Amino acid sequence: DGSVMRIANSPAVLAQHMQRTGGKVVTRFPPEPNGYLHIGHAKAMFVDFGMAVQYGGVCYLRYDDTNPEAEKQEYIDHIAEIVSWMGWSPWKVTYASQYFAQLHAYAVQLIKAGKAFVCHQSKAEIEESREQGLPSPWRERSIEENLRLFEDMRRGLYKEGEATLRMKMDHKNENPNMWDSVAYRIKYVQHPMAGDEWCIYPSYDFTHCLCDAIEDITHSLCTLEFESRRASYYWLLDVLDTYKPVVWEYSRLNITNTVLSKRKLNRLVTEDHVHGWDDPRLLTLAGLRRRGVAPASINAFCREIGITRNANVIPYHKLEHHVRLHLDVNSPRTLAVLRPLKVVLTNVPEQHSSTVQGATLPGRLESQAYDLPFSRVVYIEASDFRLQDSKDYYGLAPGKSAMLRYAYPITVIGYSTAADGSISEVAAEADLSFVAGGGKKPPKGVLNWVAQPAPGQDPEHAEVRLYDVLFKSEAPDALGDSWLEDLNPDSLQVVQGAMVNPHLAATAKAFDRFQFERLGYFSVDPDSKPGQLVFNRTVTLKDSFKK
Ligand code: ATP
Ligand code: MG
Ligand code: MG
Repeated sequence: DGSVMRIANSPAVLAQHMQRTGGKVVTRFPPEPNGYLHIGHAKAMFVDFGMAVQYGGVCYLRYDDTNPEAEKQEYIDHIAEIVSWMGWSPWKVTYASQYFAQLHAYAVQLIKAGKAFVCHQSKAEIEESREQGLPSPWRERSIEENLRLFEDMRRGLYKEGEATLRMKMDHKNENPNMWDSVAYRIKYVQHPMAGDEWCIYPSYDFTHCLCDAIEDITHSLCTLEFESRRASYYWLLDVLDTYKPVVWEYSRLNITNTVLSKRKLNRLVTEDHVHGWDDPRLLTLAGLRRRGVAPASINAFCREIGITRNANVIPYHKLEHHVRLHLDVNSPRTLAVLRPLKVVLTNVPEQHSSTVQGATLPGRLESQAYDLPFSRVVYIEASDFRLQDSKDYYGLAPGKSAMLRYAYPITVIGYSTAADGSISEVAAEADLSFVAGGGKKPPKGVLNWVAQPAPGQDPEHAEVRLYDVLFKSEAPDALGDSWLEDLNPDSLQVVQGAMVNPHLAATAKAFDRFQFERLGYFSVDPDSKPGQLVFNRTVTLKDSFKK
């Protein structure tokens, strides 16, 4: 177990940078534009950009775009946007594809050094001979022939699958990544950046280390699954005699009750298990943003979990903890009601219309007052009324009192039931003489409520989306092929007919964040339209996690 920072400070490494970059730390964040970024990428950015910031260095955003069939302009655009949303500013934005000509020249150089050959084994044949430790039958071709055939590959004289360029590494090595890896394959696919200029595309193993060398990356930081590829990384740079970055691996982020691989996220999206890459149930960064999570809390979470080599699955509540910490400090409070129950205040005249004052950040200097209409008809949370009172219950029951937050105590004097036996309406009396801090002791229970803004006029309705974990089990990745069967059918609950106050309805814009007192933190969903607000519950107020 070590830390990036320790390695960064090692004298040998510092000496090398000094020579190459004048001592400046240069890192890169290299996403493949084959999907939206997720919270694992937030960790990678925290490592890559974060280390550059810490050492006064620079970090590239480099698109690792060598698989044109999976890559799209939509993903390229989204990545640029979400990197900046996370608060990172790339020093330069580059594409592996912009180096295709240079990489091709390196491939030719490799052939000339007798270290690459054109191979006609099929994918399955390559696998089989690699498993058996056998060389490809095409391994010993002459340099001249390899140069000619590689040029034929480039000119499109072969069909897909008929030829590859393979590195002549060590087919007997104990590390499978040294078994003559493929450097180039043929794909007649339009590339989002390079168009149809190329029909041969370099592999990850060929591309990644060379791009790092070309960009003078001092610290090539990646996740642990690449550790076994370190040998091939340095093999290629050695043979081509280029500058060699320091490679350092850290553990991949996994979080309980979710999946993070883009392949799985892609299936969830394309098979409609969720509503798009930005579905608030996904831990994509777009999903977290839509859910109302602030980038600062994602970065605080990354800081807390740290950068180590320990394999780990982080409990989801650790992320929620940071989300809550941030929202507690930053979101204005307001009153709303999720599942309204009508209460008629019988001693308030029908035409009465007044306002009371709410506070955006109660108890804090920055707090601002806002108006809450108060009238004869108010709505409370249906779960705050019961027929059966009990000692540990602070809500309303027949004969019992509770405080309407920022307003008056009310006491239940009656109720009526609907045909199905449910409570349809409550009658109560308000103590309008009550003054906060005026000496009268208020009832213990404090309720969120919303009143009719004018007599006979219903409060503004809103749709509220409540979320639970997307997968039932803690480690859906461990379920193999049946991971989709583990989807939580109750991960989304849509509540129609919630009620909000006029000041909120008038000012809320998409992505704004609020605390609905007693109910949690909520964010305005971009599906909202004037008069039809939609809210996502970002997180509840209290950690429901039991220690
Ligand atoms: P996925 O399997 O989700 O597609 P990937 O590694 O193929 O992940 P890339 O877009 O190639 O995704 O990753 C860009 C960078 O982000 C790489 O350095 C990669 O190691 C890192 N990264 C990806 N997933 C995670 C994760 N879960 N935790 C930490 N870093 C990650
Ligand atoms: Mg990758
Ligand atoms: Mg991937």
